[in-house]
Amino acid sequence: MGARGIELLEHGIADLCANPKLVREDLILLARLARQVDAVFATVVGEFDRSGGWALDGRKSMAGWLESQAAMTPSEAQRTVRRAKFAEACPVTRARWASGAIATEKLDRIAALRHAAKDDAAFTLFEPSLLGVAMHGTIVDLATAAHRWRDALEADRQTDDTKPNHQIEREHLFVSETFGGMGVLRGEFTPENREQIETALDREMDRLHIAGDSRTVSQLRAEALASIMRQYNSQAINAATNQPHISIHIDEPTWTGTAVGHCETARGMSLSRDTVARVACNAEISIITHAGDRIPLSMHRAQRTFTKHQRRALEHRDTCCRYPGCARPVTATEAHHVEWWELGGETNLENAAMLCYFHHRLVHEGKWTIKIDADATIKWFKPDGSYYATSYPRPPTTPLPIK
Ligand SMILES: [Zn+2]
Ligand SMILES: [Zn+2]
Repeated sequence: MGARGIELLEHGIADLCANPKLVREDLILLARLARQVDAVFATVVGEFDRSGGWALDGRKSMAGWLESQAAMTPSEAQRTVRRAKFAEACPVTRARWASGAIATEKLDRIAALRHAAKDDAAFTLFEPSLLGVAMHGTIVDLATAAHRWRDALEADRQTDDTKPNHQIEREHLFVSETFGGMGVLRGEFTPENREQIETALDREMDRLHIAGDSRTVSQLRAEALASIMRQYNSQAINAATNQPHISIHIDEPTWTGTAVGHCETARGMSLSRDTVARVACNAEISIITHAGDRIPLSMHRAQRTFTKHQRRALEHRDTCCRYPGCARPVTATEAHHVEWWELGGETNLENAAMLCYFHHRLVHEGKWTIKIDADATIKWFKPDGSYYATSYPRPPTTPLPIK
């Protein structure tokens, strides 16, 4: 592509920006063109890389050059260089990509697979069938095919007694963040560890199971994993470390509830003040308040959690989640301070209700309110203040006379 091609592309894009009204067919065509531009870009990057032109700008590599001169992120630059290398080495797949027939993300998967397998001769044999999957299957199909091939390759390479070592080397777990602070876990485990993990998840899903739950298995599994981690963290605190489970950094006006501002965990995950209040019900947390310039003003333990004995008494009294009609067993509940400790609520039975995770959220983040009577009868009110229903504790038993 010469300078004339760039010029035409610039005109074309300017024209599209000025008249962005496209019909259905135009959108499909534009999506294909975007892929084709990716492919052209990779070719040009490959040529520039081979020419060594990046060194003239004082860079150590092509990827470094793309970062500094083309405003790319490090991972984007790495990916681009890998695409370029792949495109040069595998012209058949490249041709399909350049025609717009396969998505750039699929190309990246294929390139990453070739790079990781480190067996170019074997890859060349596998390439046609992988390309078929890339063209006619989904990205999940492609990942499955890639996985199978790597397993087969691995089995071929290793004698039986060395195989487990390679599996251990492959083990990993990525923890990353996506929109709105949601977390993504992605990893690989040896068959033995996978068995441990799946057994624990199945057990926890069984324990949390309630009849008529319409959530998907993956939703239930996510809940079970978080539940296992919460249990682990609450045990860890008893192990004499006296470390809080979670530290919260919060600015003064947000903390006192007069404004909504900076409120996040030590790892930088944003939380609402309502979420902080809910977490504080059941876990030791440290609150570090900040002035506007983020200089810590003070630090303190936010909540007194219930003692083991108080919790036993509550479990006996409440028998299950105290939301009217919720049958979650008490072993899967959290002790909620009806009046938040920070606002003067006591850490005693008269100020406590056992709630499952879902209904605990309903009270804090969902703004439902509950009122507890001296006999532990709990009245529930909707966010608009209207009465919803009443929940009763285990009925008292009268001692029978023995004489
Ligand atoms: Zn609570
Ligand atoms: Zn519940």
